[in-house]
Amino acid sequence: MVSRVIPVDPFDLVIFGGTGDLARRKILPALFRRYCAGQIPPEAVIIGAARADYDASGYRDFAAEAIREFAPGRSCEDGTLGQFLDRLDFVTLDARGDTGWGDLAARLQQGRVRAFYFSVGPGLFGDLAERLHKWGVADPDSRIVVEKPFGHDLATARELNQTLAAHFQESQIYRIDHYLGKETVQNLMAVRFGNMLFEPLWNAQYVDHIQITVAETVGVGGRGEYYDTAGAMRDMMQNHLMQLLCLIAMEPPARFEPDAVRDEKLKVIRALDDVLPHHIVRGQYDAQQGAENAHPSYREAVGNPRSKTESYIALKTHVSNWRWAGTPFYLRTGKRLKARSSVISVMFKETPHSIFGAEAGRHANVLTIRLQPNEGITLQVTIKEPGPGGMRLVDVPLDMTFAEALGPEGSDPPDAYERLIMDVIRGNQTLFMRGDEVEAAWAWTDPIIAGWVRRGEVPKPYDSGSTGPGDADLLMQRDGREWRGIVP
Ligand code: NAP
Repeated sequence: MVSRVIPVDPFDLVIFGGTGDLARRKILPALFRRYCAGQIPPEAVIIGAARADYDASGYRDFAAEAIREFAPGRSCEDGTLGQFLDRLDFVTLDARGDTGWGDLAARLQQGRVRAFYFSVGPGLFGDLAERLHKWGVADPDSRIVVEKPFGHDLATARELNQTLAAHFQESQIYRIDHYLGKETVQNLMAVRFGNMLFEPLWNAQYVDHIQITVAETVGVGGRGEYYDTAGAMRDMMQNHLMQLLCLIAMEPPARFEPDAVRDEKLKVIRALDDVLPHHIVRGQYDAQQGAENAHPSYREAVGNPRSKTESYIALKTHVSNWRWAGTPFYLRTGKRLKARSSVISVMFKETPHSIFGAEAGRHANVLTIRLQPNEGITLQVTIKEPGPGGMRLVDVPLDMTFAEALGPEGSDPPDAYERLIMDVIRGNQTLFMRGDEVEAAWAWTDPIIAGWVRRGEVPKPYDSGSTGPGDADLLMQRDGREWRGIVP
């Protein structure tokens, strides 16, 4: 199966923070891969911008190194990389000063799409928006891409929305959540709304519960200082897991269009129940000893021996509407867990009665949507165990792994950033968060965090390489359920 690549119009893309970690690991490699796929036209111009003193040639060397490391492949060696690098330029500027802005304005061309990627710390978003406007760099059709974190709580998110709104229309603002750019997440919508099979069953009558797990094996790494002010709730739950929950729970939008989809997601967030304190488990990872994989505890890693910030969170919530009343949604995410695995499991109810007798057992279908690794969708169905000797039932997976079903196209899906940056150029906001969505998510998150602070709660320690604190298992067991395994 060969996928069609539709080239985008020529564009000027400015990456503020073009020398940073995100530009190096994600943005530049993603642009290169789209160039190799033939989606970026040869007239496109990509300008890195930061305080560093690069010229175009120095920035091309920087980008070449990043691409060789993070998007290795034959196209790096066959001349394509050289052609791509010719598209790159660099401007030295300070987001907080006035140097460099005139230079940047002079390099942009009239009559084509202008996009500005804010790949800098959130403290600079307002400065950039203001100077883009002041120096006449942005025009009414320009787009800005804003990275996470989008605010620290409702008040700061609101403030940031207002700052951006002072210079840009909502239709120009692309708040990125890279989970939405993942191929499987989009496939989730295709499976739900492109098939007759699932939607009639997609409700409290047939679904027992939903589990969403985003497990990481890494610790806080070099982000300790930031992470300790955020924790798993702000860093992952409020955005990534919330977005996944929305896509699972939302009503079918009338059209696959930005506001139609985002209206439905917003309704889900607003229908979320407050989370009761005993429906949340917070954890902090311990140190790991031993020669291999030894690493410090969370508190050592962030340099705060009394930290009360969670590196793990599990919670139960409900979407209080007609479709989902009574169906629990269990969400968990954490660092230094057993395996790197992001999975959504839609756990259908057991058949109401077994015609095969008690020994055949009762069985339930499970729809598993794997985001990483090995993106794909699996439906667990019950069949007869082969062979003579009676009617024994067995659960087997109907595997929709893209690698097998779609051949080479499926085995190497585009990275989320590839898809999302091309959507910015095309002017399609469907997979980006709207300002009111982000605010609604904070409005749900804030009281939960305020409760921990008020009660002085300290997260439970958990072993690195485990599935998290034992209390998270109890959260399930109290409801007669259990978590799916965390497997790579
Ligand atoms: P980073 O490695 O610290 O890079 C920051 C960039 O901003 C550098 O290019 C830096 O270059 C530039 N910069 C800093 N101060 C500046 C100023 N006053 N004027 C102009 N440029 C300035 O940060 P990052 O990890 O790339 O993260 C960038 C953004 O993406 C952050 O909002 C982060 O939360 C978000 N994000 C990052 C990741 C990731 O994996 N890295 C993932 C998700 C979200 P100079 O010092 O030369 O100016």
